Amino acid sequence: MDNRQKKGMNFIALTIFPEMFNPFWEHGIIRRAIDRNKIRVSAIDIRNFAEGKHRVTDDRPYGGGCGMVMKPEPLAAAIRAATQKAPLSKKILLTPQGRRFDSGVAHELSSSDGLILICGRYEGVDERICHDFIDDEISIGDYVLTGGELAAMVIIDAVTRLIPGILGGKESAEKDSFSGSVLEYAQYTRPRSFEGHNVPEILLSGDHQKIENWRLETSLIRTFLKRPDLLENKALSKQEIEILKKWCVDIEKIIHNQSLSGPGALSGGQ
Ligand code: SAM
Repeated sequence: MDNRQKKGMNFIALTIFPEMFNPFWEHGIIRRAIDRNKIRVSAIDIRNFAEGKHRVTDDRPYGGGCGMVMKPEPLAAAIRAATQKAPLSKKILLTPQGRRFDSGVAHELSSSDGLILICGRYEGVDERICHDFIDDEISIGDYVLTGGELAAMVIIDAVTRLIPGILGGKESAEKDSFSGSVLEYAQYTRPRSFEGHNVPEILLSGDHQKIENWRLETSLIRTFLKRPDLLENKALSKQEIEILKKWCVDIEKIIHNQSLSGPGALSGGQ
């Protein structure tokens, strides 16, 4: 049994605000994963590695310009200390300039021994850290946050729920949105009727095959309406192609009827 199997995946966040992580470790699935030794977590204060009475971690940028830059020495020392604690962990710098985090990257990271997540602040970190001290640069989206802590939490959260044994059943992660390049089907719970809207009858039928088919179809419809780009790149199953063909026939029927007697026919199709 390797270290990861024995002690769980190791997440170390390097930050000047370690206390931001406390409420994050305390709740829900992350808390449960820690209690079950599926993950180990720590947030290490970069200031502990800064020199001098004031433990300064930032300085003015060379060449002028606004804002401050995170100094390389405390960052390098913090990364070295974290690497000593977790030598097999991947060192990831959170930056809006990194490769975009998505479900594929989350799956890739979930198979690593651990992650050391370096959280920037101010105008970011000294460039020499990017060159010599990290394995990967990751962005959680095309917008700029004030710091990398929230990005680190997003990654820890998304990766943790992919670790086997974390969710109720393997099922839950497999059926989630993006797992098969489609969005998850529509979900309902009690009450059966809510403000005039009823739960689809088929979900109450007890016919598991019909429910599976209905879920596949709603999943495809939602993806087509909300994220058609996902379908463009997906390898469709035979059943999914059949569902799409059936829609084409239905849509053609509607267009045909319109051209014969609907509003389109009246206006001459203009
Ligand atoms: N001046 C930097 C730039 O334009 O690339 C942005 C610095 S940002 C204000 C401060 C820190 O927040 C970054 O060093 C990074 O750690 C974090 N951060 C901001 N946006 C992020 C994003 N989209 N993904 C990951 N980390 C981000």
